[in-house]
Amino acid sequence: MYRAHLLAELSVRPMLADGAMGTQLMARGLPSGTCCEQWNLDHSSEVESIHREFADAGCDLITTNTFCGSTVGLSRHGLEECMREINQRAARLARRAAGEGAWVAGNIGPTGDAISPFGQITARELSNIFFKQASALQSGGVDAFAIETMSDPEEMAIAIKAAHRIQGVPIIATYAFGKSGGNFVTLTGATVSEAIDRAVQAGADVVGANCGTLLSIEDYLRLAEELVDAAGETPVIVQPNAGSPVVRNGKTHYAATPNDLAALVTRLLDAGVQIVGGCCGTTPAHLQAMSLAMGEYAKARKD
Ligand SMILES: [Zn+2]
Repeated sequence: MYRAHLLAELSVRPMLADGAMGTQLMARGLPSGTCCEQWNLDHSSEVESIHREFADAGCDLITTNTFCGSTVGLSRHGLEECMREINQRAARLARRAAGEGAWVAGNIGPTGDAISPFGQITARELSNIFFKQASALQSGGVDAFAIETMSDPEEMAIAIKAAHRIQGVPIIATYAFGKSGGNFVTLTGATVSEAIDRAVQAGADVVGANCGTLLSIEDYLRLAEELVDAAGETPVIVQPNAGSPVVRNGKTHYAATPNDLAALVTRLLDAGVQIVGGCCGTTPAHLQAMSLAMGEYAKARKD
């Protein structure tokens, strides 16, 4: 089967990204505090089976298990020497599970370090770190980069420009928004339009939001409307959590059911969102319900 370029496919139909990796890894026994990305090497069949479950659920976009896979993230576990191997391997696992029917997004997360003069890391160092991770992901065969859960538009812009040095791989750029005084802002205080403008100017091909603690289902819908306004011609992606997390007996629970998220899909598409998916707490069951809702939506529009 021929797999079109991701952006060409997106210009003719909305697409479904996948759901939470961390939640699924923990369900398979990943101890908390350990390095998720190391599992690409020493628990690769578990990682691949998670990708496969999302692909089987109907997801078009399978995201690699590399959120903390930069040298900075890996150095917290003494694994920075394995950066290339981990990212390449992660991309191959996702590629194999996706087959020819789905696309693979190489996941790049924030480093967690502030940029100088506020923090220790310079913009130039940060750019190199992102470029190296993106190159490793590309060598494993990704179709796109998914730069996720960013808070600082400056770090986002550096990551986008670094990934852009690799030609022909589209960039999906998403921030985590919270709410402050009734407005959506990132952790660093950037508004939706500030954050999105910066990502679009830096060269992102798709922009939007993922994660976002304390956002309700209704909040995600309102946020989606703001994102579509801010993005202009650039396609928008929204990957909500399975509702707002609740901690019970020391364990985090997400209350939104597959049906809740399926109902949200239709409303997000109506709002002009072009890629929907899930973040924390979303399981293959959620994604399957969302996939069905997406199919129904497409059918209703054709009739
Ligand atoms: Zn999340």
